[in-house]
Amino acid sequence: MSRFNSVIFDVDSTLSGIEGIDWLAALRGAEIKAWSAGLTERAMEGKLPIEAVYVERMHAVKPTMAEIEQLGRVYVERIAPGARETLSELRSRGVQLVMVSGGLREAILPLARELGVDEQRVHAVSVFFDEEGNYAGFDEQSLLTRQDGKRMTVRDMGLKGPILAVGDGMTDCEIRPVVDSFAAFIGFMRREPVVQRADFVIENFDQLRELILE
Ligand SMILES: [Mg+2]
Repeated sequence: MSRFNSVIFDVDSTLSGIEGIDWLAALRGAEIKAWSAGLTERAMEGKLPIEAVYVERMHAVKPTMAEIEQLGRVYVERIAPGARETLSELRSRGVQLVMVSGGLREAILPLARELGVDEQRVHAVSVFFDEEGNYAGFDEQSLLTRQDGKRMTVRDMGLKGPILAVGDGMTDCEIRPVVDSFAAFIGFMRREPVVQRADFVIENFDQLRELILE
């Protein structure tokens, strides 16, 4: 028996122990890294709407295709302990797995492959390159660059309920009205405003497996 038929996962600081945009910013030096990390933290705590920082961060970082590929490898290297095993078991029990991220889709796809999440079930923000692999912008129309974007995206997905959403940030909390339960994942980051709004607080993927399957 599974308590949930669909599980929606955040990526950064949930399935993998990095914040992708901050990792990219670090390539541009310590100052840009600190600036980006500060914006990310304030956005994830709900002190700043994500749309206020998205364009600015991307314009400061301008990741190349090679850097996005490198980031894709880091997402896999820093995969959350137990995530592989838990997602594999959920899949074998017929639970629909979905990734919903404000991060960059092309960097997240290798992690999705590693975890057996169908490419069509990966919702994130696309980044574009020119023929030489230089940065050529990102999908500024994506709902996922907006504060309520995860909620709007999940609402229209038509997933089979009951649905659980799992994540560490305020943009994950925003999903709660359109799913059955929200679990705050604190394995990498514990954010009080997120914990306070959660139905469950989860420290690791073994706990998550128990919550879903038992
Ligand atoms: Mg996150």
